[in-house]
Amino acid sequence: MGKIKTVYEDCDILVVGGGMAGTGATFEARYWGRDLKIVCVEKANIDRSGAVAQGLYAINCYMGMQWGENQPEDHVRYARNDLMGLVREDLGYDMARHVDSTVHMFDEWGLPMMRNEKTGRYLREGKWQIMIHGESYKPIVAEAAKKSADKIYNRIMITHLLMDESKENRVGGAVGFNMRTGNYHVFRAKAVIVAAGGASHIFKPRAVGEGMGRTWYAPWSNGSAYALPIAVGAKMTQMENRIVLTRFKDGYGPVGAYFLHLKTYTRNGKGENYEKKWYEQTKKLVGEYIDHHPVPTCLRNHAFIEEVKAGGGPIHMVTTEAFQDPHLEVIGWENFLGMTIGQAVVWASQNIDPKYEDPELTTSEPYVMGSHATCSGAWVSGPEDLSPPEYFWGYNRMMTIEGLFGAGDTVGGSAHKFSSGSFTEGRLAAKAAVKYIQDLGDKKIEVNDEQCENFKEIIYKPLENYKVGRNEITAGTVSPSYILPIQGLQRLQKIMDEYCGGITVNYMTNANLLKKGLGLLDMLHEDLEHVGAEDYHQLMRAWELKHRALTSQCVTEHTLFREETRWPGYYYRGDHMKVDDKNWHCLTLSRRDPKTGKFTMEKAPLYHIVDEKKNEAS
Ligand SMILES: Cc1cc2nc3c(=O)[nH]c(=O)nc-3n(C[C@H](O)[C@H](O)[C@H](O)COP(=O)(O)OP(=O)(O)OC[C@H]3O[C@@H](n4cnc5c(N)ncnc54)[C@H](O)[C@@H]3O)c2cc1C
Repeated sequence: MGKIKTVYEDCDILVVGGGMAGTGATFEARYWGRDLKIVCVEKANIDRSGAVAQGLYAINCYMGMQWGENQPEDHVRYARNDLMGLVREDLGYDMARHVDSTVHMFDEWGLPMMRNEKTGRYLREGKWQIMIHGESYKPIVAEAAKKSADKIYNRIMITHLLMDESKENRVGGAVGFNMRTGNYHVFRAKAVIVAAGGASHIFKPRAVGEGMGRTWYAPWSNGSAYALPIAVGAKMTQMENRIVLTRFKDGYGPVGAYFLHLKTYTRNGKGENYEKKWYEQTKKLVGEYIDHHPVPTCLRNHAFIEEVKAGGGPIHMVTTEAFQDPHLEVIGWENFLGMTIGQAVVWASQNIDPKYEDPELTTSEPYVMGSHATCSGAWVSGPEDLSPPEYFWGYNRMMTIEGLFGAGDTVGGSAHKFSSGSFTEGRLAAKAAVKYIQDLGDKKIEVNDEQCENFKEIIYKPLENYKVGRNEITAGTVSPSYILPIQGLQRLQKIMDEYCGGITVNYMTNANLLKKGLGLLDMLHEDLEHVGAEDYHQLMRAWELKHRALTSQCVTEHTLFREETRWPGYYYRGDHMKVDDKNWHCLTLSRRDPKTGKFTMEKAPLYHIVDEKKNEAS
């Protein structure tokens, strides 16, 4: 350990993760905190990091208030409907009322927006989506963050949060390591904003073997956003609400632009519209939710899954009609070339030309995230003017740890934020963090050397495990003394898949399976003390795995706690197959005791702040 250099950085605001929410937070922190020291730490390089690294073809959350297209209330109704009634409406409204200003800044900063030639407005793809030429989306927002921060640290993975020693339950910064130099980095900060994205690769993926690493959500989204707060005892919410996505098969290409802009549609192997076949069956499970418009994402998945189980596959996206129009054909390809190149490559490699052949769709493995049609994440305070007392404790987007804020995928309860809403939530969190620091006044944060040295030992232990254990084997990768990160990852994915409702069990689980899964996760945690890393890159893999494992434990505890099937098509509790509004029209909360590692669960009330409208979420 002696030769590892320690680098200290003291700052006011530390932003962990420089993706959409992190760049938004860094930018806004400078606006309100002109004289504050603002530092952003990113695991990759913020120019091309996070879920938007490859670019996007649409901004999925734009109200269009200037043209009277939608109001924030409409978006709350939409998100509530899609999440089967359960969202934090205060958070959703707060994001929606500010998101347009974010998009207008993107426009000013040079993001090429498509325009409706007749009206001059942004070109709509759907009710909430506007179309962009978004290959350079990420470098553009990264530039705003780079100009705002005192310093951006790339290639540093944050592994732990530091706690203030002078006050219980107050954050004091974060630590991590540089995966190129190996240096140990200590960031002491008055406020920390966690914006570290969602969690992919916690469930066994469909793409294994030669396709390993391919996922829908970014493969580098490793659940740090959840593991960091969970480890220090922050409350989490709705962690059971993982998301499954209907996507183009093998390349995970998104279907949004195809449905909305190209007006393509799906049918089963026999050429039938299969969705309506499952209406009565779904109604028995969820009641009137199936009659909502638009049909909630999970229920559309449900029809897909049932149809495939009943032998109606493969399910196809009918592209052969739309692609006869040369303009739509170009859009269809560009959509992937600017966002998910892998899908275009898969089609090329399988001789699929969507002009002449309808490509297959599939349902993905589950992901944990807070910004899409799902809302897992940290339990945060809402804004003062909107939130009921149970949802408000002083500073917008602050977790149940003082000084610890969240944004984007990190934050639970506020679905359908997407790229623009995540950036917006970063801005909201940063504004509140500045206020928090101003209110702190002269009060100092105390983080002693002992705390930092302890973490140093813990962080680099996988290197030591490998160095010592490697001597026991002469060849191969199987050692009696350590497991490699990839071995641990595959074990985690198998546990989550088989016991917590992954693809190989058709998303089905029950209390007995979940309890068994928790036992296996406990054993995995014990073995992760013996994970071995041969270099700094593998050290990152080791810590990604540990964060994924902790996130998975929380997901499993939540899934066990909620005794109903609230989102058929995302997962099923076989022992409680129906939506149970009487007992479970509520939010779920968990807290892991940092000393004992035990989770406690509770219900939180659900407040409907925005009224129903005659035509909900139309
Ligand atoms: C294939 C795909 C298509 C999508 N399509 C659209 C679309 O069309 N329109 C739309 O609006 N949205 C779309 N989205 C959603 C959008 O990208 C996300 O909602 C948004 O990026 C979430 O923002 P975030 O900041 O929470 O996470 P991210 O943008 O993923 O940022 C998280 C950042 O944290 C970093 N990080 C993680 N762990 C650590 C750590 N321990 N230490 C330091 N840094 C860390 C990561 O490297 C990353 O840079 C799509 C996403 C994907 C994957």
